[in-house]
Amino acid sequence: MGSYDFLKAWREQSFQVESPLVSVSEADLEEALQAGAPLITLVPPVISADGFAAALAVVAGLLAEHQSGDAAAQAAAVKGAIQKAGPSERAALVQGLLDGTGVEEWAAQRGVLAGMLDALAGLAIQPFMARHAAALAGVAPLGLWRQNACPICGSAPDVCRIDPDNMRHLHCPTCDTQWEHHRLSCPTCSTDDVKKVSLLTLEELKPWRVEICDACGGYMKTLDQRHGGLLARPKVDLFLEDARTLQLDLLAEEQGYRRGGRLQ
Ligand SMILES: [Zn+2]
Ligand SMILES: [Zn+2]
Repeated sequence: MGSYDFLKAWREQSFQVESPLVSVSEADLEEALQAGAPLITLVPPVISADGFAAALAVVAGLLAEHQSGDAAAQAAAVKGAIQKAGPSERAALVQGLLDGTGVEEWAAQRGVLAGMLDALAGLAIQPFMARHAAALAGVAPLGLWRQNACPICGSAPDVCRIDPDNMRHLHCPTCDTQWEHHRLSCPTCSTDDVKKVSLLTLEELKPWRVEICDACGGYMKTLDQRHGGLLARPKVDLFLEDARTLQLDLLAEEQGYRRGGRLQ
């Protein structure tokens, strides 16, 4: 949702997010990873309703600033409704958003769009999930994980990078975790048939490229960091880069490929 400038303004916000206590042993974390279970199934994040509501108001305010017309008015209405809500109303909103029970009634009573709340919640949760993921990654042996879903939260990767040592790292848009994946196979379906995978590029977006796969019909945008330059920094914000390189998505989609592979 929204423009690159909006997402950039959002990613530049910093939040004081409490550091979770990871009271689970490394052995238990290792067992979960080996069983293919994302670690939040073992250690769920603790997210305060007030903290999450505050983040939601900030991201709604930024969207209102970066949009115009109806979208700006709707985003501003969301911000106003959150600011007016009392503690129990905020708690109900956050619970509905986080556990997926829905916020239609909450939204309807306040004249705001539930879809807008859901979309903003997907952004507002990022700092909380990133903090949780960083704490878990400090303890868990993530190198054991080779699946194509996030080892911390289970989300599908948005993009990936190939580092200067030729290792592929998939990136999670929800919690910002990066994890290693087989370099030669398709990151969507893991086929190792190299003849099925080919590349599309746009001169102005290099060293980004799209890897398209005829085994699964999926595509994955990939940042090739092997040739140095600003985008070879390990800390490059891959979530923002995903938004900046939308032309590559269009290129792959025009040819019939889709993120996550063809529909079953
Ligand atoms: Zn994740
Ligand atoms: Zn594939």
